[in-house]
Amino acid sequence: MKKIAFLLLSLGLSYSGVAQKTKASKTSASTITQASVARVERALAADDMQGRASGTPGGLKAAQFIAGEFKRIGLEPLPGLSSFEQVFPAYEMESGGVQAELNGEPVPAERVLLASGVPQLNWSDKDSQVARVVVIGPEAKVGQALRPLLQPKENLIVLVDPVHTAYFQRFANYFGHSTVRAEKPEPYASVFILSAPSPTPLTYRITATTRINAVQLRNVVGVLPGRDKVKAAEMVVFSGHYDHLGIRPAVAGDSIANGADDDASGTTAVITLAEYFKKKKDNARTLVFAAFTAEEIGGFGSQYFSKQLDPAKVVTMFNIEMIGKVAQFGPKTAFITGYERSDFGKLLQENLQGSPFRFEPDPYTEQNLFYRSDNATLARLGVPAHSISTDQIPTDKLYHSVDDEVESLDLANMTAVIQGIAQSASGIISGQQTPTRIAPESVGQRP
Ligand SMILES: [Zn+2]
Repeated sequence: MKKIAFLLLSLGLSYSGVAQKTKASKTSASTITQASVARVERALAADDMQGRASGTPGGLKAAQFIAGEFKRIGLEPLPGLSSFEQVFPAYEMESGGVQAELNGEPVPAERVLLASGVPQLNWSDKDSQVARVVVIGPEAKVGQALRPLLQPKENLIVLVDPVHTAYFQRFANYFGHSTVRAEKPEPYASVFILSAPSPTPLTYRITATTRINAVQLRNVVGVLPGRDKVKAAEMVVFSGHYDHLGIRPAVAGDSIANGADDDASGTTAVITLAEYFKKKKDNARTLVFAAFTAEEIGGFGSQYFSKQLDPAKVVTMFNIEMIGKVAQFGPKTAFITGYERSDFGKLLQENLQGSPFRFEPDPYTEQNLFYRSDNATLARLGVPAHSISTDQIPTDKLYHSVDDEVESLDLANMTAVIQGIAQSASGIISGQQTPTRIAPESVGQRP
């Protein structure tokens, strides 16, 4: 690329696309090396980061590492902040156990799940109106029915039909031991019980304890100010989430969920792209590099981030999520979630002429990936915010397992993906391309 551009210039040809872009700087995407990608990826996915769970020492260590990288690269903190860490409060509810008895029979522990903002819970049907009973029948769309009940506004006993056992178990794995909320929980509880509806008036005794801890969470955000006086007011966000699942039940002696692909790979891309654009020195628009916390536990990091800026000024968001393995379309490809919602993908592809790299629309739309990462928060505010991924998620056995480790990644291909993103972003960085907005009402909640 560099050589061809140089040749065209020396021949005095005006081949505007290539020549102009190269005039600003000699830095091309090929300067993104596998060695630098590997160094960052290995640091983030190392065992000493303990799976980078939000609000844990391992998560803090990862945040400090990323902040150190942003400092080394020479980014600036967000306006109004004195460091790269964007700290915000949250509340962690840690269950101390729940005992339930229905119609005189004890309910096995694996069939009960608690979402509680009450430190001590002691319910009995003998106390009038202590809780309302809700039945999730065999026909119900169980996910949609359960999710809102995780933040109860009244005391609820939720009887979930045994048809939904598999979903209930996944739900329990996800929310089981401790849950985090951005808002202080209200003093109510939902007790979910896997049970057919009671043929007679329900009798019950339920006791539970919950510790409610105030915690601090932190995104890590660095800024590269725009070089054009007017266009500098417009922001382009590059993001990935640095949090992962932390320590999990051990499998073959390994209990650290390293999250090498999910999403140390995307975070590595964010750091690597920051370094690339800093050296390239041709960003008319302001570039914001964000490593989000708390994606895995509810997306609180991107939600807080989105409230600290004016979404109208965010031109687009490249959210990078799981790019460590080769996509189903082959090497040097990646897919874009919500491809048809804006012309983001089409614009990126225009900058890839002459490159072997290409983007495809998300082939797994039934997986709702558009809604399963941090891009959805900004998309709901109208920003053309998409996730770029390579993961073959329907068949990825390592997803959310303790085996998501660096050894399973293809670092050469991952480097090519980051190079592809760098090159494809050139028109948006320079201010020449502006993706169409997403209609906020078209996004809604996850189906
Ligand atoms: Zn992820």
